Amino acid sequence: MNTVYKTITVSGGRLTKTKKAIIDVLCENHCFLSKHELVEKLKIKKIKPDRSTIYRELQFLTNNNIVIKNTIAGTDYYEIQQDHHHHLVCMSCNSISSVDIGNHLEKQEKQIAKQNKFNIVHHSLEFYGYCQKCVNKKI
Ligand SMILES: [Zn+2]
Ligand SMILES: [Zn+2]
Ligand SMILES: [Zn+2]
Repeated sequence: MNTVYKTITVSGGRLTKTKKAIIDVLCENHCFLSKHELVEKLKIKKIKPDRSTIYRELQFLTNNNIVIKNTIAGTDYYEIQQDHHHHLVCMSCNSISSVDIGNHLEKQEKQIAKQNKFNIVHHSLEFYGYCQKCVNKKI
């Protein structure tokens, strides 16, 4: 957690109350949160940033690779980059769950970077399909 705070100051950002709260909320949730869910959870922490503040803070955090933004089914989701993992996305109920596929891809990333002389900052991987609940509904 403190390492995330440190990354912010190293990246030249100010550790505002809102930024801290956004990071706390994202750390507590581990997986993707939509902007709407994020704002709701900030409210519980008695933080009510206006739309432009939250936009600015999220932009700083994503630009500095502290937070990952992913658009799934037309909704923007955010999650903390620290705890890297991949996702299963249900195309029926739009539920997102995290999945552990080992570190093959992380090894491959290094290879891809080398082969293509490309400085890879991060990657995201989503598997799309139907969760058990939705598959059962279909039968
Ligand atoms: Zn996730
Ligand atoms: Zn589903
Ligand atoms: Zn990965």
